[in-house]
Amino acid sequence: MTAMAEPATAIPFIDIRPQTERLRAEIDRRIAAVIDHGQFIMGPEVAELEAALAEFCGCRHAVSCSSGTDAIVLAMLARGVGRGDAVIVPSFTFAATAEAVALVGATPVFMDCDRSTMNASPSELVAALDATNAAGLNPVGVMVVDLFGLPADIDGWIVACREAGIWLIVDAAQSMGGSIGGRRVGGTGVLTTTSFFPAKPLGAYGDGGAVFTDDDDEAAALRSLRVHGQGSDKYDNVRIGLNARIDTLQAAILLPKLAILAEEIERRQQVAARYAVLREVCDVPNVAVPDGCVSAWAQYTIRTPRREQVRAALADAGIPTQVYYRKGVHEQTAYARYPASGNGMVTTLALCDEVLSLPMSPYLREDDQQRVVDTVLSALASAE
Ligand SMILES: *Cc1c(COP(=O)(O)O)cnc(C)c1O
Repeated sequence: MTAMAEPATAIPFIDIRPQTERLRAEIDRRIAAVIDHGQFIMGPEVAELEAALAEFCGCRHAVSCSSGTDAIVLAMLARGVGRGDAVIVPSFTFAATAEAVALVGATPVFMDCDRSTMNASPSELVAALDATNAAGLNPVGVMVVDLFGLPADIDGWIVACREAGIWLIVDAAQSMGGSIGGRRVGGTGVLTTTSFFPAKPLGAYGDGGAVFTDDDDEAAALRSLRVHGQGSDKYDNVRIGLNARIDTLQAAILLPKLAILAEEIERRQQVAARYAVLREVCDVPNVAVPDGCVSAWAQYTIRTPRREQVRAALADAGIPTQVYYRKGVHEQTAYARYPASGNGMVTTLALCDEVLSLPMSPYLREDDQQRVVDTVLSALASAE
């Protein structure tokens, strides 16, 4: 055999192993407890998780459910959204945001986003309302997204929606643990949905999600809708709902993870801060975090017109990256027929060509991260 240099150990894109090792004993104990009591659906861990989530976020009600997508569907149903209604959503997001609107029979109307925060800003609302009216649709609400973990401009959006006479919902699938003005995501008083998909900042070992609200009636409707619209008499269903409960096992697994989420969000700040040296060669997201705002850093996404070159250099070095997102939702086959703001969605299209998400996790090792940084620096320092 020829002697070969020891290959550098692969850097995972999102490394959940160190967290698993850290929590292993507690998670094993929690899983065993569920297997022992046998209440696999709506067992005691579900109520325990909901209480812990509500306390963590600072909201009255956390209603758990089967996924981040179902959380949005439940929110749509609770708001009575249906045929003839339009809900304004960003195009630069994961498709599920718009999908939930379309699934309940309503029409998603796409708005553009801000180049720096990559979130939709309240200044996008006028153009989106024009597109909605031009299509002869009735605008009922806006769903903003906390993209890559950065909370959207909630106060600006509250004012803009109040003036337009429509409601606001936040798709916070990527931002659990983030905060704005000292209020945690989910605790802003605005109806908020999240996801516990394994790669999100608070991830289960399978699917899960939650809806956060301060409104008692809305919480009651959500709880009914996730169990087929059941009424107080379980043989009398009072709404058309879903089977959208979280598994007891996933709730049990999430409890120890939630207990360390605040600390993990701190670690993510340190990782993001170390990546900021890349500002010498490309656009970095650190500069777009407003004062008083804490990103959950679900992704660390840089922007460069030489994206493919950087991506290839990282791939050659064995470093995984992702392109979130290569296509705006408004460009995708199933969504191209829905209205979009009349500005040509220029910022969304530009971002799709330039964004690159780098390895990100609370446990990203400094030496591994240095390797990512050095590779990006040298790829962009070299001549075109
Ligand atoms: C992940 C995600 C969802 C969907 O969450 P699931 O739990 O996978 O259904 C919705 N919106 C955004 C922005 C997401 O990132």
